[in-house]
Amino acid sequence: MSPLLDNAIQSIRIGVEDYQANDPARALSAIRNLHAGLLLLAKVVLVQLVPNADEDALIGAEYKPVPDGEGGLTYVRRSLRTIDLAGIGERFKDFGIAVDQATLVKLSRLRNDVEHRYTEEAPDAVRQTVAGAFPLAAQMFQRVDIDPVEKLSGAWKTMLEIREVYEQELRACRETFEGVEWRYAIVGQAPRECPKCRSELLEQMDPENREQECADSTCRSCGARVDAGMLVENAIAAHYSAAEFLDFKHGGDGVVFDCPECGLHTYVVDTEPEDTSSELVGCVVCEHRIEGRCARCEDHLTPSNLGADHPDFCDYCEHMLFKGL
Ligand SMILES: [Zn+2]
Ligand SMILES: [Zn+2]
Ligand SMILES: [Zn+2]
Repeated sequence: MSPLLDNAIQSIRIGVEDYQANDPARALSAIRNLHAGLLLLAKVVLVQLVPNADEDALIGAEYKPVPDGEGGLTYVRRSLRTIDLAGIGERFKDFGIAVDQATLVKLSRLRNDVEHRYTEEAPDAVRQTVAGAFPLAAQMFQRVDIDPVEKLSGAWKTMLEIREVYEQELRACRETFEGVEWRYAIVGQAPRECPKCRSELLEQMDPENREQECADSTCRSCGARVDAGMLVENAIAAHYSAAEFLDFKHGGDGVVFDCPECGLHTYVVDTEPEDTSSELVGCVVCEHRIEGRCARCEDHLTPSNLGADHPDFCDYCEHMLFKGL
């Protein structure tokens, strides 16, 4: 077994032991170890594709071009910074490896949250991390043709059990929303998560309700109450988190904006989805859609350039025409 794979397996195993200790003091350690394990495992996958490459270069976050001394260019690492789980998804994509990008981004956010404000606010964060890490780890082990049952034995079984219980609870929670007639299918399909602890175990308070506007819910994990508007805001944020991560990284304005009509952060501008049938522009709550051009410069109006108080103008022209008023 390669030292890299050995380290990956050790990290995952220790993470699961931390989880089993059922001690809040070890929860953060569990999350860190599971993350480290997944990152190392991802590295094993990448190394397998390019066995002659420098291992550290594979997970470098920043590169700069320098002369190669032979009249050409080569790229060297700009810093020792390495990519995180969210970045792994992008690198996998660049290497032509399919991976569940949304889960990677979610795990990465979960970890950042927990690092910054621990722990009562995210009582279920470790269990969610184990449950989310399981399918990703399974996918990566399969890619490198390694049997996790053999290598991780007890720890793998524990992860599987946690995952199964979590999935059951998730299904039960989702069923409470089954009657809701969502204005856009995408809202119904998006993961619903608690704004306080990021748990997906949200259940509708009135499972008989059918209206999107009235789909208030509570979090089974931390007890937070989430009103229908916030529920949709969070579902949309979670659904587009991976797309938005990439969009920002490439200098874009983002994918989800504040709606000028209803004020919720639910105005979607998704004009380049991977599946073109899911293209969407407009507010998924009030169905408002910004049309037309600025009355002064005739630029197309979008949620990112719309004048805050004068929606007939872009923000630049609004500033030029009304500054000082
Ligand atoms: Zn919660
Ligand atoms: Zn709206
Ligand atoms: Zn203008």
